Amino acid sequence: MTGKVFLVGSGPGGISLLTLRAQQVLQDADVILYDQLPGDEILAALPEKAEKIDCGKFGGMHTLEQSEIEELMVRRALEGKNVVRLKGGDPFLFGRGGEELETLRERGIPVELVPGVTSAIAVPGSAGIPVTHRKYASCVTIVTGHEDPGKDEPAIDWENLAGNSGTLVILMGVRNLPVIARKLVSCGKDPETPVAIIERGMRPDQRVTTGTLATIGDIAKARGVRPPAVIVIGDVVCMYREDDPWLVRV
Ligand code: SAH
Repeated sequence: MTGKVFLVGSGPGGISLLTLRAQQVLQDADVILYDQLPGDEILAALPEKAEKIDCGKFGGMHTLEQSEIEELMVRRALEGKNVVRLKGGDPFLFGRGGEELETLRERGIPVELVPGVTSAIAVPGSAGIPVTHRKYASCVTIVTGHEDPGKDEPAIDWENLAGNSGTLVILMGVRNLPVIARKLVSCGKDPETPVAIIERGMRPDQRVTTGTLATIGDIAKARGVRPPAVIVIGDVVCMYREDDPWLVRV
């Protein structure tokens, strides 16, 4: 009998942000395919008995090609195994979960989606920044900052984004941040627009760096900002307080 593949989101940080369903399917898994984004706490607690495969896709370094990951999932499921594909945040936001779903559908493998708390909303929130606010932004756009010219992804319409008064949340944007900031300004966005970068959100060593579109590139470089980080651009950033005794994290 064919096994089942679970596309599972781990949430943005510790075990307490895994859903109950995610914990359940991890416990029952025969095979777990993961990368580093779920973080040490979750990865260290993966059940002993499962075959664990590190797909090692992190910060642009691929140890397993996407097609190899998909092939492995299919092969193990055809062997009758329950396979968990564990991804950071939610599996359907920039995690290539959509492509995996397509492959599994094509090959007739049963799939279950286990959604996760996405870093795009939870990580700004953990720094006291709501991505929308009645006073500051009534919409939010989530963008990848990692445009790979080799991929056949639709190119990002920066002009359109610069003209958008809502909040811009950029994932995978650390390396390209100086270019992104310049692009937005050259497309007409106010250089004084506030920007926050939250590194390792909801982890014990979370760090927040703030600036404006005009200054953030240099500030981030000086502070050695590194992925994984969520970048927030827009007036909601004014909600951030360096010392926020009212903000308690899990
Ligand atoms: N599916 C994930 C996003 C995958 S893309 C989600 O829903 O959250 C990977 C990017 O997510 C990273 O480059 C970073 O921008 C962001 N990210 C994920 N977890 C994060 C965390 N704990 N802190 C900061 N950024 C995080």
